Amino acid sequence: MTSTTRVGSHPGAVALNYRAAPVVAFWEITKACALACRHCRAQAQPKRHPLELTTRECFAVVEELGRFQPKPILVISGGDPLMRRDLFEVAGCAVDHGLRTSLSPSVTALVTATNLGRAYRAGVRHISFSLDGATPQVHDGFRGVAGSFDRTLESIAMAQEAGLTVQLNTTVSRWNLAQLPELAEIMARTGVILWDLFFLVPTGRASAQEMLSPQEHEEVFNWLYDLSLRASFPLKTTLGQHYRRVTLQRSGGDLERIDSLPSSNDGNGICFISHIGEVYPSGFLPVPCGNVRNVSLVATYREHPVFLSLRDKGQLKGKCGVCPFNAACGGCRARAYGLTGDYLAADPTCAFVPPAWKG
Ligand code: SF4
Ligand code: SF4
Repeated sequence: MTSTTRVGSHPGAVALNYRAAPVVAFWEITKACALACRHCRAQAQPKRHPLELTTRECFAVVEELGRFQPKPILVISGGDPLMRRDLFEVAGCAVDHGLRTSLSPSVTALVTATNLGRAYRAGVRHISFSLDGATPQVHDGFRGVAGSFDRTLESIAMAQEAGLTVQLNTTVSRWNLAQLPELAEIMARTGVILWDLFFLVPTGRASAQEMLSPQEHEEVFNWLYDLSLRASFPLKTTLGQHYRRVTLQRSGGDLERIDSLPSSNDGNGICFISHIGEVYPSGFLPVPCGNVRNVSLVATYREHPVFLSLRDKGQLKGKCGVCPFNAACGGCRARAYGLTGDYLAADPTCAFVPPAWKG
């Protein structure tokens, strides 16, 4: 995993080393999915797109990902990656190229003991499922398909039986805010190795009305910090960079307490490849930076002006630009883009007012 180095005396001062390679590459290998979630980033469709990358093109992507040093973790997502028949071939190829490869399938009838066994035999050791509510009513309402809640709990057990470690992802929104404590109990009961809380960004089918307010973000982050001190499972945030600021404030600058991907952010430690090969800084920041069909992924990540600007804290605007925590946090670039159209703007969901902010 990419390392961080402290520079200077302020607890928020962290120098990043994500210039050469992302720590995680997310790959939306298809947009096809049988579910119809109300917040779907991918705006998934029932059928595969005719211009999806072919198997041969997928092998080329894997080869290119293997050229990064250090090699990133590869998360194959969608849509539902199980909608592609060549999934295990592609995943096996990624493992052969030295990429730690995990799958993020939708919970449908395709999550079977047979398919999970095939994933394991391909060299996959980690899988993530989504759980967005602590009750069938809330989770199934989110996912758009009755029975999803029960099937998710069954899938967790099946994956563990197949030898895979399981991570659960929760998209935090107004829809499920009240159920977070109950969700935490489910995490403890099911033996997952990570709870990843995604803070809703208005992109795809997700709307700004479902997003938490700055104050609600603050309350959830403080609750999460307390939970992290006693939980039997690790937790992290995605698209909730300001949790790092809260962690630093609450812990007196203990960087060890911050989630496992230090200071990664869209385009800075993260990159995304779409089903048709477009390269974005992240799936939630859909600014096209070329297509793997005709540009080098490695060169795009390292040199494209959008990626370069996202890694340059000096270009941050508004209060994020003058914030003493911006090296560790930097605000969610995808949310800034989704709400303002400017990926360098301040994250509008942060309640913190930096001392130097005169706005
Ligand atoms: S399971 Fe994932 S890809 Fe499928 S509709 Fe839901 S959010 Fe979209
Ligand atoms: S002002 Fe920006 S950089 Fe500072 S804590 Fe808030 S989101 Fe992070």
